[in-house]
Amino acid sequence: MAQAKKAVAKTSRKQTARTTVRAAVKTYQNYIGGKWVASESGELFENINPADTGDTIGRFPLSTSDDINAAVNAAQEAFDRWRRTPAPRRAEVLFRLGEILIGYKDRFAADMTREMGKVLKEAGGDVQEAIDCTYYTAGEGRRLHGFTTPAEMPDKFAMCTRQPVGLCGLITPWNFPMAIPSWKLIPALICGNTVVIKPAEDTPLSTYNLVKACEEAGIPPGVVNLVTGHGDTVGAAMTNHPALRLISFTGSTETGRIVASACAERNAICSLEMGGKNAIIVMDDADIDLAIEGAVWGAFGTSGQRCTASSRLVVHKKVYKQFVTKLVAHAKSLRVGNGADPRTDMGPVINADAVDKIMGYIQVGRNEDGATLACGGKRLTRGDYANGYFIEPTVFTDVAEDMRIAQEEIFGPVTTVIPANSIEDAIRIANGVRYGLSAAIYTQNVNQAFRAMNEVYTGIFYVNASTIGAEVHLPFGGTKATGNGHREAGTQVLDIFSEWKSVYVDFSGKLQRAQIDTVELAGN
Ligand code: NAD
Repeated sequence: MAQAKKAVAKTSRKQTARTTVRAAVKTYQNYIGGKWVASESGELFENINPADTGDTIGRFPLSTSDDINAAVNAAQEAFDRWRRTPAPRRAEVLFRLGEILIGYKDRFAADMTREMGKVLKEAGGDVQEAIDCTYYTAGEGRRLHGFTTPAEMPDKFAMCTRQPVGLCGLITPWNFPMAIPSWKLIPALICGNTVVIKPAEDTPLSTYNLVKACEEAGIPPGVVNLVTGHGDTVGAAMTNHPALRLISFTGSTETGRIVASACAERNAICSLEMGGKNAIIVMDDADIDLAIEGAVWGAFGTSGQRCTASSRLVVHKKVYKQFVTKLVAHAKSLRVGNGADPRTDMGPVINADAVDKIMGYIQVGRNEDGATLACGGKRLTRGDYANGYFIEPTVFTDVAEDMRIAQEEIFGPVTTVIPANSIEDAIRIANGVRYGLSAAIYTQNVNQAFRAMNEVYTGIFYVNASTIGAEVHLPFGGTKATGNGHREAGTQVLDIFSEWKSVYVDFSGKLQRAQIDTVELAGN
């Protein structure tokens, strides 16, 4: 039932700390069945700039399960027409979307920095990933390869084709607010599915921008539906909705488990991309300066809020001291500030909860774990930092592999340096966490590089490069508690968003029996 509309703006987790006179705050709407509509609840939540909590970016619908039901109905209505649209025609619309995204790239990047905090260059990279994903995946409209294979019997043809899954629910996190939605949305669409997408409550604007561009590209009404709101209401309504055949989720391992359980209850397909605790191994023959650059970029890029962040630096004891000295000097030199300022190296973290969590882990590192705080460790609160969620780049040294700060995902600008005795020791440490997303090794020794590549059990591995920096035409995802066996990006993502159909064509004109213990050959 529709509830009475309330003109009430609810605060999001990014609490407003001061009131400044600013331009009127825009109210955004859900996109359902090709129409921009308010939530049935009539309620809104605020999207706040994490670098300046006095800056309210917009008010977004605080949606309910009623909105999800409406969005699913719209996706259902649009499904038959979209799945019957030839894939090369679907691709044409998506190529148009790619062009539109290019045109808006700078504006979308600025919006992203404002709502998420990452520096402008990274936000531009995030939008670019959506563009790259769109072009690459739209090309699948003229491939979507299946295969043919010999049949067991004469005058019989065997082949395999892809068919769409149906209605897909896409649930996304805030750290890549346009790239990750695009990684799900574009493959879902090229395969002929229709979708309901729910962005993270901290970054609804970037997904709004993506969906608005879909509308402009001419994607038919109901094919893409956007509903904003909280995970435990809107997200849960999606995971429990019987008509959503697939839930594609990216977020924390804890939430992923809830999503997976709900999907298991109703036999829905579920693809999960979750947390990481990624190691860079630095061997004694490594180019140390290069390794430092990779470690700093991997640990403090996006303020450490990447699933692939280099949160463990496993360093050979022969170069440990030298590495730590250079790492600390480099970390201290980083300029923390508003990501919109081109001089900024590292922006804020996402919200007040994140500050509490990260500062809590820094306490754990110092007090409970007994590691050495080599630099950073403080929240920045004065001057330009007063209204934002800024934390110093933080390095812990003398870290043992089993300490909590070396095991748990902190998801902030905190990295740990763990000593290793040998390549075997380093590989064992790299594998010694519950996650398995990304890992890297810095070495000049090809044998060591290949050994680590073979032995480290992750979905992504780099040699002489940091743990971050995936490209859209290679599969992306992780092992162990990072995933559930699926891969996004590459052509492998098509296996999430399509189902195989095996087709047998018997043109012999007679009954040919398979699966019995008799060989019946034509003419025999
Ligand atoms: P989160 O798990 O808190 O939220 C992710 C999404 O799930 C949000 O849209 C949220 O609203 C929704 N959600 C929350 N509770 C829900 C519920 N009960 N049912 C359904 N949906 C629910 O994660 P986050 O804080 O947004 O993102 C950070 C996490 O994401 C980190 O752990 C990071 O490693 C991970 N991540 C993983 C990848 C990857 O590809 N492996 C990429 C980016 C981020």
